[in-house]
Amino acid sequence: MSFRRWRILGWMLGIVATVLVLIGVASGDFWRSVWAWAGIVLAVAAIVLNMVKCNCPYCHRHISDRSPWNTTHCPYCGSDLDQKQP
Ligand SMILES: [Zn+2]
Repeated sequence: MSFRRWRILGWMLGIVATVLVLIGVASGDFWRSVWAWAGIVLAVAAIVLNMVKCNCPYCHRHISDRSPWNTTHCPYCGSDLDQKQP
């Protein structure tokens, strides 16, 4: 899967996690809410996915969320990020 798809998946997981945590907060008993725990697990998964998969396939440096989300080239080595990761 390409860098861009991993990044979109990470963002989608993060958004779903945020919604689940907010549902947990709205339930009134955050720490006993299944929704809150599901949101926490998904948030951790999104962070791990971002740390592991959002790297340049060539120089292997992490491409931060501070770079434009639709960036097409690595800010460090300039390689095309739409290529499939080896
Ligand atoms: Zn690179």
